[in-house]
Amino acid sequence: MQDAAPKPRGPQADLLAGLAAEPWPAADFAAALLAWFDVHGRKDLPWQRPATPYRVWVSEIMLQQTQVAVVVPYFERFMDRFPGVQALAAAEQDAVLHLWSGLGYYARARNLHQAARLVMERHGGALPRDMGALTALPGIGRSTAGAIRSLAHGEREPILDGNCKRVLARCFAVAGWPGRGEVLNALWRLADELTPARRTGAYNQAMMDLGATLCTRAAPACARCPLAARCIALRQGAQQAYPAPKPRRENPVRRTRLLLPVTPDGRLLLERRPPAGVWGGLWVPPALAEADLDRDWEDATADWCRQRLGALPLRLEMLPPRRHSFTHFHLDIEASLLHLHTTPPHVADGAGAVWVQPTAPGNLGLPAPIRRLLDEAAARLALSAGTEPPV
Ligand code: SF4
Repeated sequence: MQDAAPKPRGPQADLLAGLAAEPWPAADFAAALLAWFDVHGRKDLPWQRPATPYRVWVSEIMLQQTQVAVVVPYFERFMDRFPGVQALAAAEQDAVLHLWSGLGYYARARNLHQAARLVMERHGGALPRDMGALTALPGIGRSTAGAIRSLAHGEREPILDGNCKRVLARCFAVAGWPGRGEVLNALWRLADELTPARRTGAYNQAMMDLGATLCTRAAPACARCPLAARCIALRQGAQQAYPAPKPRRENPVRRTRLLLPVTPDGRLLLERRPPAGVWGGLWVPPALAEADLDRDWEDATADWCRQRLGALPLRLEMLPPRRHSFTHFHLDIEASLLHLHTTPPHVADGAGAVWVQPTAPGNLGLPAPIRRLLDEAAARLALSAGTEPPV
């Protein structure tokens, strides 16, 4: 598992002098980490006061792919609106997605909502404590279940989020990309062996804190790290080599053309996307069918207007093109405002479609790029009406 150790170089020489060569006994590893946590660990995060299973669960889902500082205000708004499983299960999906708007990775919110409903059905509204029952819920994997069991219940259960993977991969020189099965298994084995029977919640929090604050991806602060004495990556002078990055593959580029019909009083049409797929369940302007993307765009837009709105717009106004990157692909977005003569009478507010003021779209789940598009549309409309654009 360990790579051949390259010669240490540069300013790390002092730090490297006197590093232990033996592997860590698990108890020493946990003791060093817990002693650091007692002084430097984060103990007043909103989901720690109190660390109920529900609050830990919601925070863990929000923290996937997202940093603590970004999550805190979202978490607090979410708890104000949905203080428990029952309130979350009873909510409309729109209300949940609305509070998630801007956090991205919306499948997390849909799974959370669906899981809350299952907790009501299967477990009488109390999040189960059992590992198997927890991981049977949508969106809860082994690490999230481990966090709920250890942080909320004090059970001995390892976790392995992105921060833990980085710390373990560096400390023990675990080569390879953690997305590969054998690498992931090796990291889980380490996580399991090192997790102490006592103070497991504090230990797991310490792993997450160390990864987030000291053993960061770009600039690990090894001089202040409680694990430096036996960290193999540090001894090798090869911290950046662990964990190995995902093998590079160019993400494909997809295209979409969004059409934003504008009524004379400045309202825009949004439609709810189907539950699965890009921006599933969220509110987005209508888009040209994929088959029409290679047609002359004015012809295709005119056909769409006749079919959907029953009339042609007075004027088309292009907005600047933009790119939004998802995990697996880039989306090139073209968008145009379609200035209408009247509000089409047959396109009424209802299930699946709504006319909104772009500055006040209400409690709808909006993806962040669409939120920005609405702001831009509002500024354009204000300018063309000769008023100040909204701040
Ligand atoms: S010594 Fe450096 S690389 Fe090793 S765990 Fe600590 S911060 Fe990370």
